Amino acid sequence: MTIDCHGHYTTAPKALEEYRKRQLADFGTPRWAPLKGAVAISDDQIRDSLESAQLRMQRERGTDLTIFSPRASAMGHHLGDANANRFWSEHCNELIHRVCSLYPRNFVGVCQLPQAPGVRPDNCIAELEHCVNELGFIGCNLNPDPSGGYWTDPPLTDRWWYPLYEKMVELDVPAMIHVSGSCNPNFHATGAHYINADTTAFMQLLGSDLFRDFPTLKLVIPHGGGAVPYHWGRYRGLAQDMGRPPLAELMRDNVYFDTCVYHRPGIELLLKVVPADNILFASEMVGAVRGIDPESGHHYDDTKRYIDAIDWLGAPEREKLFRRNVEKVYSRLARRG
Ligand SMILES: [Zn+2]
Repeated sequence: MTIDCHGHYTTAPKALEEYRKRQLADFGTPRWAPLKGAVAISDDQIRDSLESAQLRMQRERGTDLTIFSPRASAMGHHLGDANANRFWSEHCNELIHRVCSLYPRNFVGVCQLPQAPGVRPDNCIAELEHCVNELGFIGCNLNPDPSGGYWTDPPLTDRWWYPLYEKMVELDVPAMIHVSGSCNPNFHATGAHYINADTTAFMQLLGSDLFRDFPTLKLVIPHGGGAVPYHWGRYRGLAQDMGRPPLAELMRDNVYFDTCVYHRPGIELLLKVVPADNILFASEMVGAVRGIDPESGHHYDDTKRYIDAIDWLGAPEREKLFRRNVEKVYSRLARRG
């Protein structure tokens, strides 16, 4: 059993994107009315959108189950307000629920939160509860920077976020710390903003006692933990200088990295420096990088291939990262029928 903890519905039928385009075209103009409206997508359109992409790749690459969430770059929390983003999140999450209902063996849902810059995260609690309790979702994606590259909200360790963390702990769901698009021209979304945010989130957590307040809170930092594994010595040294616990202790039951690193040397480094209990298998397919690596002849995001090829990785560690760690973090997986 191989579980990919990080997949997005990047191939959703066009009607979803068109809804958001219409909504944002009206937003801020006299035409804007805060109404949810409808998105017309048939089950057949959903099947078609998955058969040619995610489902085929699952089969070809040998993964069984994908923890599936709305397209992250399209969350666009910086583009609307609390109302517009709530309607948008509801539509995106409802579509993920339909995917998971049509293919319960292949997909399990993680929700998008209706965040907006400067709006308290308490505003996301109702949608999180709905997605977990009514739709059977097992986690959420939490945007640490709803401003889209300007970081205008408090750090993840600030009490600003605490009501949402309290609800996550109560519901027993983790969050993947995942930014969306960038409106800051300095930061390319997937090439800079994503990796910056992963690194930034780790450093915020390193310097705080968040997990003393929330000992069971679980946060997944995607894209291999950003720059952290490569600079592991720097972060170990910073933690030491700041009188913080060693990194392995700091991460132990609370912070996890995924394997969305698109070359074998990067994956090997990740597996060598980060504790095996804190790494979750993921590919982010079909996502940030879609091409084929001319050096290997395979897709960059076929991350299972890199791991399968590492001969020094033992069977118990493989079992942990392909399955056990994911089940530990997304503990509601076990409650599925
Ligand atoms: Zn992602």
